[in-house]
Order: sequence, then structure tokens, then C-alpha cells
Amino acid sequence: MADVLVVGSVALDSVETPFGKVREVLGGAATYFSYAASFFTAVRLVGVVGEAFPEQHLRLLKDRGVDLAGLQVSPGRTFRWTGQYGYDLNEARTLDTQLNVFADFRPRLAEDLRRPAYLFLANIDPALQLEVLRQMAARPRLVALDTMNFWIEGHRPALERVLAEVDVVTINDAEARQLGREPNLIRAARRIAAMGPRTIVVKRGEYGALMLSDGAFFVVPAYPLESVFDPTGAGDTFAGGFMGYLAAQDRTDDAAMRRALVYGSVMASFTVEDFSLNRLTGLRREEIGERFTAFQDLMRFEA
Ligand code: AMP
Repeated sequence: MADVLVVGSVALDSVETPFGKVREVLGGAATYFSYAASFFTAVRLVGVVGEAFPEQHLRLLKDRGVDLAGLQVSPGRTFRWTGQYGYDLNEARTLDTQLNVFADFRPRLAEDLRRPAYLFLANIDPALQLEVLRQMAARPRLVALDTMNFWIEGHRPALERVLAEVDVVTINDAEARQLGREPNLIRAARRIAAMGPRTIVVKRGEYGALMLSDGAFFVVPAYPLESVFDPTGAGDTFAGGFMGYLAAQDRTDDAAMRRALVYGSVMASFTVEDFSLNRLTGLRREEIGERFTAFQDLMRFEA
């Protein structure tokens, strides 16, 4: 069993979907990631929050054993994101992004945070992702990165620099097209692979996920849910399941990567059932196993 280190946003999200509305609830890419990954292995989180960040949110992560020694508390306000979804839940519309304490966050990793076996550079300024990667005392066995339109649009050169050094990219379909500068998703994935990473994982919301690894494709459907409440965090939860499983097994071969893609889909399918981390906080280990089996049934067919 190996550990995972994640660097990324810890946030207060305000979200509106056709099914409801919440204000300043716990969110952030690193939050969803670490909560999901904690069902599989030991997780350490590097990030920053503002002084008034509610203690009960930290409690939630600590209760799952997430190591928060690398979470800095800085004077100022916590990162805030406001988003909206229409009936097509695959597309988030960002109404407002306030970087706040993240604007001048310069992570200095303590010595004992510099040797993770698995590293996840969650969606955050690619300059920060690179800074964290540069501080590794030894090359982690697997480095994965996530990003979004906000950074692809405004910070492409920095993003391309860090992309050249990672093994896996997780990205949603619209962002894959944007990053690959190519409307066809298959070609877009190949173009992103040409930027460096061995494995490209494209998250496609209700259509599941697509993986291009060493030139070969693998696809997983989304779990057929009758009610999807709020897709916020699905991508990061997916990455948490994916990386958490790989780290727990300490394997990165093709068979493990395929199962990891299923575990990612399993975890994401829970997150979207409620706002914030509400569904994940009540989640039992057995439910993960049950849904994994359901995926096997879903994908099985005979010649
Ligand atoms: P996703 O898993 O893709 O739905 O990501 C949702 C999370 O990403 C939300 O909880 C937000 O707090 C966070 N987020 C949104 N925009 C940014 C950004 N520009 N940088 C870092 N995190 C963000």
C-alpha cells in the first residue's frame, strides 16, 4: 500500500443546479480528491485556506484520516467558486472565481512531504503544480495532473511545461478539445499525449470516461443514475478513486489502470447524488464494492 499526496484547491463553493442551490459549502478539487482517495489509502493534502475557514470542514477530512499538515492557514479569504448548471449537467458555467489566498500561495513542502509514491496535481495554477513537482526529493512512481478551461485559456505556456513532466492527465471532454485544439475527442486525446503524458483520462460526465494509455483506448460508462443532483466535484472524486486505487495496489500496469478507471467512475457516481460532499460523507466501504460489481455487470457481454 502506497500513499498519495495531493496539491490543489480547498474551497467554499456556491452552486446552482436545476434541482437546488447551495451557498459557500465545502468544495475544492483537493477536498473531493482526498476524501475519495481516503477510502483506498493514506492521503496527504497540500493547499491553503483563509483564517475564517470553518473548523467543521477540516474535521470531516481529519475524520477520514486525511493528513492536513500541509494545509496552510493564511490571512485572508478562502478560495471561492460560484458555478451554475442547466439541465445538461455535463457543462458547468463558472459565474465567479475568487482565488483569494491562492493568489499568492507559494507552497514550501516540509521534508516529509517530498517523497510521496503517488502525486496528484489537482486543478490549480499550473505554476503551482510545477513548483510542487520541483520540490519532490525523489520522482514519485506516478504523477497525475488535472486542469480546467480557466487555466488552459489564461496559462497555457505554464500548463504545457508541467504537462511535459507528468504521467497521467485527467481532464473533461470540453477541456480536452480545448487543450488539444481539436474537436474530435480521440484526436484531442492523442494530441495531449503528444505533449508528454503516457496516459490521458477524459471524463465525459454522463457518458463515462475514456482512457488513452500507451496508444490503446479503454472506455467505461457512467453508472446509470436516475437522479443526478449536482455534478460539482465529480471529476476530482473520479481522480481520487483512480489514484487511490492505484496507490493502494501500488501498481500502474494496464490491468490496474483499467480497474482504476472503474473505481474512479464508482466514486464519481456517488458524489453527483447530492450537493458538496454530502453523499460521500455517509458512504460505506461496502457500497463501493457493490457498485464496482454493478459496473462489471454493466460492462459484461458475450461474443
Ligand atoms: P470538478 O470536479 O471538475 O467538478 O471540480 C469542482 C471543484 O473545482 C469545485 O469544488 C471548485 O471549488 C474547484 N474549482 C473551480 N474552479 C477552480 C479553479 N480555477 N482552480 C482551482 N479549483 C477550482
